[in-house]
Amino acid sequence: MTPGDARSAPKVLLHDHLDGGLRPQTIVELADDIGYGDLPYGAAAPLGAWFRESADSGSLPRYLATFEHTLAVMQTPEGIRRVARECVEDLAEDGVIYAESRYAPEQHLTRGLSLEAVVEAVNAGFREGEALVAERGGRIRVMVLLTAMRQAAMSTEIARLAVRYRDEGVAGFDIAGAEAGYPPTRHLDAFEYLRRENAHFTIHAGEGFGLPSIWEAIQWCGADRLGHGVRIVDDITIQGQPFGSWLHAHQTDARALVDLDLADVRLGRLAAYVRDMRIPLEMCPSSNLQTSAAVSIALHPITLLKRLRFRVTLNTDNRLMSGTSLSREATLLADEAGWTLADLRWVTINAMKSAFIAFDERLALIDDVIKPGYLELGYAGEPVS
Ligand SMILES: [Zn+2]
Repeated sequence: MTPGDARSAPKVLLHDHLDGGLRPQTIVELADDIGYGDLPYGAAAPLGAWFRESADSGSLPRYLATFEHTLAVMQTPEGIRRVARECVEDLAEDGVIYAESRYAPEQHLTRGLSLEAVVEAVNAGFREGEALVAERGGRIRVMVLLTAMRQAAMSTEIARLAVRYRDEGVAGFDIAGAEAGYPPTRHLDAFEYLRRENAHFTIHAGEGFGLPSIWEAIQWCGADRLGHGVRIVDDITIQGQPFGSWLHAHQTDARALVDLDLADVRLGRLAAYVRDMRIPLEMCPSSNLQTSAAVSIALHPITLLKRLRFRVTLNTDNRLMSGTSLSREATLLADEAGWTLADLRWVTINAMKSAFIAFDERLALIDDVIKPGYLELGYAGEPVS
């Protein structure tokens, strides 16, 4: 898989934060418009580099602190709408044909907007972006996931907002923010409400914290998908050793996960449940390196989980903070972990199957857009399960 293949192949993105994907130039211009003077740099290039370096600190809380600046310029309808429109254009340019973009409305209220006004500004920007892409002969559909912050107490209100806008571009709900100390069960009321409303939700779990967080997200909260879920490998043993210690002993072998004999792998009960129930994992390799949830692309658990046929999906998380795109994530895996176009097709179809839009719409995108797109690149594909 060349970088060109990775870019032109149709791709599906389920885990991408709207406030983590701004163009540096847009941040500079919007800051100027609203008189925000706290940016660390006033020019796009050093500002973009600053975001990546700050996010490289290795700590999830410090990584999250970079959002102060992107959120600061997303407090007016004009600013929010522009960021949303450019997000759609950037994703389409990278070959994404369907995306679920997430943001927390409660973080956009500092200049007096209502929650509803935030949702409507984002939706307007997404529709504008889709129309622009279509005018240029491309195609993309972008839906919204409304996020509630796990350390705050607005989750039920945000869940109600997600249900209110379910027929107007909002496909589901999510909780995000520092994981340790804020278990998903703090927000049980919101999840119970969503289940009673037959609504969909994903939960950031198994990124900054391990198995208890994943277990609560699935078995107590009823999450349809797991945001990251990378630490499900804590419930996997290799040659009788816990995954972490086995990996530590093999960390100098870049092909350790590619060459591993799967007969030496055992799943614990939670890992088996996640695989058996086809619970989608929204995996974000580069982001995990920045928060120390993984040691390298070559040894990122995504390659083992793909080989074990978990319902793996490939995502960007925060394109600005990681200096990445979905095609770049695919290219990194191709270069460092032996991924092929067949693997990219497989995770793309996994992601499309796991999207929160209607079943018939998912199938239509698989049959009419994704499969023909890979055929065009010369890859017919194996039957997928
Ligand atoms: Zn995330």
